[in-house]
Amino acid sequence: MSLPPCPKCNSEYVYQDQSNLVCPECAFEWNPNEVNDDDVVKVKDANGALLADGDKVTVIKDLKIKGSSQVIKIGTKALVRRVLDKKDHELDCKVDGVGEMMVTAKFVKKA
Ligand SMILES: [Zn+2]
Repeated sequence: MSLPPCPKCNSEYVYQDQSNLVCPECAFEWNPNEVNDDDVVKVKDANGALLADGDKVTVIKDLKIKGSSQVIKIGTKALVRRVLDKKDHELDCKVDGVGEMMVTAKFVKKA
């Protein structure tokens, strides 16, 4: 069984410690099953459920639309077109009755 080199220092002397791999040279420890997940954007809704492109969500509080007097009412449904790697307004949504807009993930829940 060959282990992958250390992702931090490229050392080949990596050894396995239960489910983790450990690098003796830089002391980096990681789970090889999680490494590939780093590229995947992880955005969670109000309940902590992972959101993905194409998910249907419901708005859980009234949201003011920036630069407009319009409000997205609680209970409004939206379709997640794309999940983006951002701090807020991570969801590129098509909101019922409003249209396309960016919505913050913690203000919605999976429908
Ligand atoms: Zn290392």
